[in-house]
Amino acid sequence: MKDLTTLVEKLDEIKTDKEMAVNKFQREDVNRQIDEFFQYFNAINYVNINNEDKIEQLQTGLASVIFDESKFVDYLQENNIEYFTADEYVEDGYDQKHEPFDIFFADWNQIKDKKMMDFIESNVDIEWSDEWSTCDYCHKAFRVQPDSWHWKPHYWINEDGYTCFECLEKDIHIHAYIQHYLNNKDDMMFFDGVDLEKHGFKLFNNENSYNERFISGFERSDKPEDILKRIDTDKYDFLFKHYSSGQFNVHYELYIKEK
Ligand SMILES: [Zn+2]
Repeated sequence: MKDLTTLVEKLDEIKTDKEMAVNKFQREDVNRQIDEFFQYFNAINYVNINNEDKIEQLQTGLASVIFDESKFVDYLQENNIEYFTADEYVEDGYDQKHEPFDIFFADWNQIKDKKMMDFIESNVDIEWSDEWSTCDYCHKAFRVQPDSWHWKPHYWINEDGYTCFECLEKDIHIHAYIQHYLNNKDDMMFFDGVDLEKHGFKLFNNENSYNERFISGFERSDKPEDILKRIDTDKYDFLFKHYSSGQFNVHYELYIKEK
């Protein structure tokens, strides 16, 4: 019987062969290798080897070799599980662990089979469909539900749909984005990637030695109406921009531009 290290190496070889297989014959050869590997693997499971870590490593590795995204999609469809997918995250703090497969979004509570769920979790990047959405332009994924108090959206939603902050950097979107917040006292922009000075705005009170920030929150709440009394809205266009989020407060800034 082959030793465990040899098997791990063999598994890596099969993985590479699988990635490289471009035609029917090569794929058949990979399937044959997988079958053979299964036989060895079952033999190892059959005898009692005191190396749990290695066995687990093999199981995980084996799953990633036999995992087939189109079969997974079939499984979801056969079980009437609604889902959507994305190629990439655009949300900070999220990295895809199972490339080249897509990220799948669904209500995973619908899968009652624990073994199946374990298998899915070790092979696919999955998220909850009610907490996530995707950009209508690049189809990257972002959260639409906060996961912490300092979370801020990585997207903008308007009548045309969702635009992620990467797509917003493109001029065509940024213009519409600024227009949306222009002279809008009920909303604030969250996107940091826009150079408002380049667009003719200046931070209100920036001519003084400090940057004035306003607060909306638990301790104090600056009302946009009151703040706006301090500028001549006949003379200036304005927009509010998010600065930071604390546990109980949101700090925001006022930008102005001569009409
Ligand atoms: Zn996008």
